[in-house]
Amino acid sequence: MEHFQMIIDGQSVDGSGGEVIESTNPYSEQVWATVARGTEEDVNRAVEAADRARRKGPWGQMTATARGALMRRFAEIMAEHAQRLAEIEVRDNGKLLAEMGLQLRYIPQIIHYFAGLADKVEGTVPPIDRAGHFTYTRREPVGVVAAITPWNSPLMLATSKIMPALAAGCTVVLKPSEFTSASTIEFAKLFKEAGFPDGVVNVVTGFGKDVGSALTTHPKVAKVSFTGSDYGGRAVYEAAAKTFKTVTLELGGKSPNIVFDDCVMEDAVKGAVSGIFAASGQTCIAGSRLLVQRSIHDQFVERLLDLARTAKLGDPMLETTQVGPITTPPQYEKVLSYLEVAKGEGAEPVLGGNTSDVGKWFVEPTILTGVNNNMRIAREEVFGPVLGIIPFEDEEEAIEIANDTIYGLASGVWTQSMKRAFTMANALEAGTVWVNTYRAASFTTPFGGYKNSGVGSENGISAVESFLKRKSVWINYGADVPNPFVMRIG
Ligand code: NAD
Repeated sequence: MEHFQMIIDGQSVDGSGGEVIESTNPYSEQVWATVARGTEEDVNRAVEAADRARRKGPWGQMTATARGALMRRFAEIMAEHAQRLAEIEVRDNGKLLAEMGLQLRYIPQIIHYFAGLADKVEGTVPPIDRAGHFTYTRREPVGVVAAITPWNSPLMLATSKIMPALAAGCTVVLKPSEFTSASTIEFAKLFKEAGFPDGVVNVVTGFGKDVGSALTTHPKVAKVSFTGSDYGGRAVYEAAAKTFKTVTLELGGKSPNIVFDDCVMEDAVKGAVSGIFAASGQTCIAGSRLLVQRSIHDQFVERLLDLARTAKLGDPMLETTQVGPITTPPQYEKVLSYLEVAKGEGAEPVLGGNTSDVGKWFVEPTILTGVNNNMRIAREEVFGPVLGIIPFEDEEEAIEIANDTIYGLASGVWTQSMKRAFTMANALEAGTVWVNTYRAASFTTPFGGYKNSGVGSENGISAVESFLKRKSVWINYGADVPNPFVMRIG
């Protein structure tokens, strides 16, 4: 049994309470590791270390170019550990090694992108309407950042937070999900090897209710970057408001994947399957509402079933496996309860609808017809391999159904009409619209949610902006100091 310690101020340490959290492999159902259970006291030490590293340590004095160079060095070291880290993630979250391997090999590219942005943060020189004065603006790091991540793609999501934060000059306290902490700890150890000063990146492992909430209420944390459920996001937003922290929230979704009768059917079928069965549906961008134009509904469902039936469930470590287990017992219970909800609402499972005997936490890929957009199965995030098919008549109705949701993370459109592609892209209320593709993402392109799917966005140049604040500096180089009792404007 392996044991993973937290990283505070460059040291590997256990929680101050001496307790541990067990980590279970969702495929083998075996506890394979223990992880230190952090406390409020540990959070205080980590935040103090991060604050010190920024104010007094070498990090704060380093040029942005030197910071970028350190990040590049980290990317190179991390690349050497990609396979090992991917295997740890699979052991923890049961997602396919094929997918986690791809993510981990991609992460160094993300780091290089943000390393390159470190010394491209520029201030401005506004033209000033005052004689004898000069003003300029500086972009400064917000300060200590709390980064809180979920269990579905631990390192990919942590990278999207830590790297723009470091490029901006911030320091970080990272809290991974209590279900999948091991890879984050191993990843963070590499910062020391890359030559990062102690305290710049800290990891405190533990539960949301103690470590998470201690971070979001700590007065020395300036920003919280959170990815998780809308339930968790709301708690974070409320807590952060008390000390006026800024937040980025990447939350859940109930994304519409819309198939028009002029689509390339073979592509749309693949897009529908990848939208919901990849990662066993445990992705925030899952295309869990499949809107199909009525004129092709029956034909499309038939083609969809032909492909979905071929999905091979099994050991996520094997190349041949296409659908792995559900990651956590509470999530497994949640998916099962939604299968009951759907059946109770009159939805008809034309595929799956039950648990699978491949393993304890497996759910069959499930396709439901007879779904309408008012049903709970169409309104609430399941986060599992459960697809509801909703027919529509025309473009107007598709837009109405697609936007009739509290969420707005992603959406897909399958059509060969350019006019329709642009019309839909404008009309859909979601942070991402994919046309003739689904689940595409890149560090170059902003990603964020509309409505209850989030606040702010990650990725792209604007991600660095979100870890900066702006300061205006006024220099009087020749004007008389004015009447002290009257504020001068203009
Ligand atoms: P979760 O909200 O239960 O937990 C996420 C993280 O927040 C965990 O580290 C948890 O310990 C912590 N946390 C929970 N309550 C907290 C609190 N009150 N204060 C501070 N921290 C707290 O989410 P989850 O079940 O781990 O992840 C699944 C959810 O994440 C889904 O809803 C999914 O859609 C969403 N998600 C969103 C994105 C995105 O980019 N929009 C990406 C991946 C996952």
